[in-house]
Amino acid sequence: MRVSKQIALVTAGCLGIALSAGELGSTMPAFGQAAEPVSKTCREGPRAREIEIQKIEPFKMFDNLYHVGPCYVAAYLLTTPQGVILFDTTQEPFVGKLIDNIKKVGVNPRDIKYIVINHGHIDHFGGAARMQELTGAHVVAIAEDWTMIEAAEGKTNNRDPEHPNRVPKIDIAAHEGDHIDLGDQHLIIHTAPGHTPGNMFVEGIVLKEGGQTYKGIWGGGGAGVKGLEGAKQGVINAQKVAAVKGVQVYLMTHSWQPPNGYAGGGVHERAALLKTRKPGDPNPFVDPAAWENRVQRQLVAAQKTLADEQAKAGGK
Ligand SMILES: [Zn+2]
Repeated sequence: MRVSKQIALVTAGCLGIALSAGELGSTMPAFGQAAEPVSKTCREGPRAREIEIQKIEPFKMFDNLYHVGPCYVAAYLLTTPQGVILFDTTQEPFVGKLIDNIKKVGVNPRDIKYIVINHGHIDHFGGAARMQELTGAHVVAIAEDWTMIEAAEGKTNNRDPEHPNRVPKIDIAAHEGDHIDLGDQHLIIHTAPGHTPGNMFVEGIVLKEGGQTYKGIWGGGGAGVKGLEGAKQGVINAQKVAAVKGVQVYLMTHSWQPPNGYAGGGVHERAALLKTRKPGDPNPFVDPAAWENRVQRQLVAAQKTLADEQAKAGGK
């Protein structure tokens, strides 16, 4: 590693893939007969804080990519001939299950070479200290967010209020345009400040299935902070995401994103489709139209926020 338009909005419900417990089979905990998509149940709403529903089984998304849980926030394993990259680490009390899931898909934790942290919120880095110790891997976060991560040491969070947070030892502080090169993967790190000062997205992920390869992106940028300067940054973020061409697979950091999860379904709606896929059918995670839809909506929303902020500033 060198550190250095008209797209129809299709909701999960329209596709009839709201899941019942029966359809989930043995890989998911019982969710009852809820009509809402599983991705939504896990991420928001009254049941999202239930611990046991989060402890899902791992699943293979592509030949070289596994979702290793939990339900509401995603950790992904990207395998290469020279080792494995782990994207995000969830938080306690889910890290033991994360480790079990990594082993279940046949990956030796010691083969993990990089742990990439999307941003400095506990649901993304909460497991990083344990994973750093277990794997010996490099931990990569955007420089600005290492400050946030270190500041969380010893505090508590509402998912695991009995135990103080543990944080990883500061390791690789990444900047815009840095690469992670491992095996056949050449990832490019981008920053999209707003949600946190060092919010990250990663392009260049090559996903493989059969003889095919697909272009993946992890994380989706996001808006800037409140106010005029934040609104300007939000437009820059949206344009930076839009500049990544040819994306076919959006690796969501969470299972569900308001307002619709992600056009065509969140992580677990697509996982259910993958499970029942017939030979020759496309992988449900390959969905360039849904990604383009998201990019265009983000551009429009960012421009509107900026126009609103400029109007406010001009009106003073
Ligand atoms: Zn966050």
